[in-house]
Amino acid sequence: MPKDKDYRNTQYCKELIDVSNKKERLEAQIQEDFPRTRIIYNKVKKRGGIYNRKFAEIYNEKCAYCGILLGLIPLESFEVDHFINEASFSDTEEDRIKAGRMENLIWSCIDCNRGKSGLTITPPYDHILNVDQGNICQVFERDKDFYIRINAQYKNDEFVKMFYDSLHLGYQRRRMDYLLLQMYGRMKAERNEMKKNKLGAAFLELLEARNRMHITDGKRI
Ligand SMILES: [Zn+2]
Repeated sequence: MPKDKDYRNTQYCKELIDVSNKKERLEAQIQEDFPRTRIIYNKVKKRGGIYNRKFAEIYNEKCAYCGILLGLIPLESFEVDHFINEASFSDTEEDRIKAGRMENLIWSCIDCNRGKSGLTITPPYDHILNVDQGNICQVFERDKDFYIRINAQYKNDEFVKMFYDSLHLGYQRRRMDYLLLQMYGRMKAERNEMKKNKLGAAFLELLEARNRMHITDGKRI
């Protein structure tokens, strides 16, 4: 997915590459380290644990749904999401293992994960909204005012609308997060110390304003 087509990325973000293969390799590593582990999720979910960190790195430490970066918000604000939610699986051990397989796990911010938790994703939406392959970037885009919006092809799609609303993707704070991400990237790239410091001060001011906002403040009209 080219960076400029990925609503989650600014020009300073790294492209998401080879996510599925990297996840497969991490799963194989966990299984090698812990041959008796059945539910991979249990090994990945522990915040700050070695597999949790490796999992985050696969996603460039950014929420796979909204693109917010670890560092702008703390590690406590991230969770491991079940793409197909747990409620869609039965309570048998076999199904719990399936739900917790690496391919069903996504690095997500709390706001996206909690918003999405009640949503049951069924075909063809598991494909249309697939984040690891970047399909989701054909559904949502960043508009000129920095809001995330549903693109023309899907704007009348009821399930896509429900997904967009449940994850609060259209809200003001998502826009703020993007501007913060851009400013942060610009600041990191700046070589002139004085300019870097000025950018840093402005960044912190914007971050504080962002942290005062609630996820449902200022819905896009
Ligand atoms: Zn998010």
